[in-house]
Amino acid sequence: MKAVADLVDERSLRSLAGAPTYLEGATCAEHHCARITESTDMRVVAHVDDMETYDTTLTADGDRLRWSCTCGRATAERPCKHVVAVGVTIWRQSPPRKDQPDDVSKGRGLGLSPDQGTRSST
Ligand SMILES: [Zn+2]
Repeated sequence: MKAVADLVDERSLRSLAGAPTYLEGATCAEHHCARITESTDMRVVAHVDDMETYDTTLTADGDRLRWSCTCGRATAERPCKHVVAVGVTIWRQSPPRKDQPDDVSKGRGLGLSPDQGTRSST
């Protein structure tokens, strides 16, 4: 089972909505158009201001994201930009992901070799 926040990464939203709709939604989120009014792991409800205020709901259904929006432009296959805006907003509020392992070689300092100049020769 996944939470809504696990299903709204940029790649998923972009492929669901298509690039133009994704951009509109991301721009909308950029301007804080989405106000989340109810948020659980499985369901997020938000008001989205876009000329009018729309009620947008995102739900996690197993491994799938589902949505509804009162603008009427979202279909079962394709979210509208308000859904994208809420998704982007949720994603930004959620803690950073650990999908990609950090570069392991990073942070390896040169280290100071212990000075072994105590050997004395006569
Ligand atoms: Zn909408």
